[in-house]
Amino acid sequence: MKLKLVLAVAAMMASTAAPAATMADSIRADMPQLMTLYRDLHANPELSMQEVRTPALMAPKMRELGFQVAEHVGKTGLVAVMKNGPGPVLLLRADMDALPVREQTGLPFASHAMGKLPDGTETPVMHACGHDTHITTWLATARRLAAMKDQWSGTLVMILQPGEETGEGAKAMLDDGLFTRFPKPDYLLAFHDSASQPAGQIGISPGYALANVDSVDIDVRGVGGHGAYPQTTKDPIVLASRIVVALQTLVSRENSPFNPAVVTVGSFQGGAKHNIIPDNAKLQLTVRSYTPEVRRLLLDGIKRIARGEAIAAGVPDDRMPVVTVREAEFTPATFNTDDLSVRVLTLFQQHFGADRAVKTAPVMGGEDFSRYWLADKSKQSVIFWVGGVPKAKWDAAKGDTSKLPSLHSPFWAPEAETVISTATEAMTIAALDVLKKS
Ligand SMILES: [Zn+2]
Ligand SMILES: [Zn+2]
Repeated sequence: MKLKLVLAVAAMMASTAAPAATMADSIRADMPQLMTLYRDLHANPELSMQEVRTPALMAPKMRELGFQVAEHVGKTGLVAVMKNGPGPVLLLRADMDALPVREQTGLPFASHAMGKLPDGTETPVMHACGHDTHITTWLATARRLAAMKDQWSGTLVMILQPGEETGEGAKAMLDDGLFTRFPKPDYLLAFHDSASQPAGQIGISPGYALANVDSVDIDVRGVGGHGAYPQTTKDPIVLASRIVVALQTLVSRENSPFNPAVVTVGSFQGGAKHNIIPDNAKLQLTVRSYTPEVRRLLLDGIKRIARGEAIAAGVPDDRMPVVTVREAEFTPATFNTDDLSVRVLTLFQQHFGADRAVKTAPVMGGEDFSRYWLADKSKQSVIFWVGGVPKAKWDAAKGDTSKLPSLHSPFWAPEAETVISTATEAMTIAALDVLKKS
């Protein structure tokens, strides 16, 4: 009798303590398998919109878990749906492309892969943005949620997105009917590994989290001639130099200091020889902002300054600078909606502790995850960060990220095991919260 009571109490205690412990334990038990997958993905990266092996590898794994899988959505994207009773539709997204970077991490499973850029150039390829941690976490989360089907109700739409780095993938999936051919989500969730936070720390930026990204070309045209007779020319190198300097006033003088904005001239090319004044010089700019208004101010200002400086230099009307905003490459700003940001941050702080789940400052990087929310702003959307910098390196650099490899660096080697286990736990509890049984 007494023994039975003890057993009953023990069973009760086990059942009340079970959910949190079981999930962390299950993730830990999964890690060896997941790390094998991660190393395989890392060693076999694929360039944007050329992801063939990755979705082919993941599709059968998702089918095995009971998801309905559609491949080739938006060229190489994958959509896996699990309907599990009434409730909201939650979209979980992982991006899967790698970068034209020659890996220099020295890891035993470092990439030696080669790929071809759209212009046909051969290039080494590396998962230098850590999207391999995203793909692995995506599968790990699917496994947990499939195993815990009795604890949630609703529909899961899990997508593997191609071409994030080129800003093409989200658009391609949307254009291919992501929100019409498959259940339309009420909630959107994604994460990105972070080179600005210690491994295992989660960061959320409510509101604008990542920037509008525009690429702009300026063809500065002059009138070429002999370097010894500048009076017979209109020197495009001097003019382009003045444009570069004048562009600095867009952010410092025209834009409100309370509105984040960046204008960077990343490329300045012109001329071939010491004694020739060329016909033109070419500038390439990256332009960053959060709001549509600031974006407009910067893009209009660039056109005005280029033209104004050309007029001041006496360039003929038919040789005015040609400013091209590459609209096809535009990535809109990513907005974390207030309700879901606060809800998820609070949830993570309760689960992981306030030191492991923090509010982080927004960044001027870009993410085409933005497009899913922009396609229908009635949805709730959050992308969060999971720190990947190994603790020892973080401490040695005293948290000074200028001393650490950034995302896209050939040296970026996140502490993958910590990123994947933390992100899986975070994604799973967020999904369980959004899809909790009423
Ligand atoms: Zn990237
Ligand atoms: Zn990335």
